[in-house]
Amino acid sequence: MASRVFFTDARATGNRSLLAKLDRLLRRAGLDEVAAKGELVAVKLHFGERGNTRHLRPQFVRRVVERLKRRGARPFLTDANTLYRGSRANAVDHLETALENGFAYAAVNAPLIIADGLTGKDYVKVEINQKHFRQVHISSAVYFADVLVALSHFKGHEATGFGGALKNLGMGCGSRSGKQQMHSVVRPRVRAAVCRACKRCLQWCPAAAIRVAEVAEIDADRCLGCGECVVTCPHGAITINWKTEVADLQERIVEYAFGVLKDKPGKAFFVNFVLDVTPDCDCPSWSDVPVVPDVGILASQDPVALDQACYDLVKQQPGLAGTRLDDRRHGQAGVGDDKFWAIHGVDGTIQLAYAAALGLGSREYELVRI
Ligand code: SF4
Ligand code: SF4
Repeated sequence: MASRVFFTDARATGNRSLLAKLDRLLRRAGLDEVAAKGELVAVKLHFGERGNTRHLRPQFVRRVVERLKRRGARPFLTDANTLYRGSRANAVDHLETALENGFAYAAVNAPLIIADGLTGKDYVKVEINQKHFRQVHISSAVYFADVLVALSHFKGHEATGFGGALKNLGMGCGSRSGKQQMHSVVRPRVRAAVCRACKRCLQWCPAAAIRVAEVAEIDADRCLGCGECVVTCPHGAITINWKTEVADLQERIVEYAFGVLKDKPGKAFFVNFVLDVTPDCDCPSWSDVPVVPDVGILASQDPVALDQACYDLVKQQPGLAGTRLDDRRHGQAGVGDDKFWAIHGVDGTIQLAYAAALGLGSREYELVRI
């Protein structure tokens, strides 16, 4: 059965700002019915790595918070610590990065709580009994919240093609040990002929698994499979097996999303911001320019339908010149083409198909334009 996905485009005028349009979208899509007075609401988002400049804007987040507060709910902003080294691997660094990126209480009107605690060990084991995992490690603040509202920046990703609501739920709500479980299938390899021994990958590897002599070498026994070296290498010298590893990774992420939503029937709501559609996710300490024009904001109570709608809308856009699409190696990038495939050579729809098979939602949707 088709799910309803609500959509407001990115156009704005003097008397209809995008913030006002967001508020209307939230009301029409049913946010008010999901959260009740007194309930603790985890507003899950990605605060952006330090140096990243295209992450979700705090103004949008504040609108969501204020709508929840008008219902008498008690929202807090949250994300879990990262597996890789960087500016969000523990709660102290994570909070400082969030503040630097504009998510101070005064800006967003809600407290920040790092979902899996100081060092990422604060999680709950949830039984799911699926193909890859019997149990998943869900960050405590997400697990114990009465309601989950996932705000996702829809953009590209080197291993999942694109990242939207499902990735925000699965990878984003897993604890550090959970992220390790999901990534354990990824085995990066160095293309020696391409490596320039610049050592940049060394700085980001969380496992000290890389040694650089004449070229980089990866110690497979130490490697956690986080994939950071793949996105960090400025020369594209590190690759993973896109055919098998990315499929397994996407399925694992979806199983984590299943675990996150298992105890929240009717208590979850999803908003995707298809603005600044960058080729990479918000984890790198930089942001490349968007590859398609801004599309708009979408909301739904079905995360699968929501991601499918966003994917389809991006596909319908023209690819922008002077962007990563100029370097594409995997196909065309015009209207109707999969821009994420063109950039990364990864079929991101694997996550949609698996999520639908697990009953997380429907790939069929009715797009309600408001
Ligand atoms: S970042 Fe890339 S080019 Fe630099 S040492 Fe690592 S693999 Fe080689
Ligand atoms: S070598 Fe392994 S652990 Fe290190 S950054 Fe790459 S994928 Fe992550």
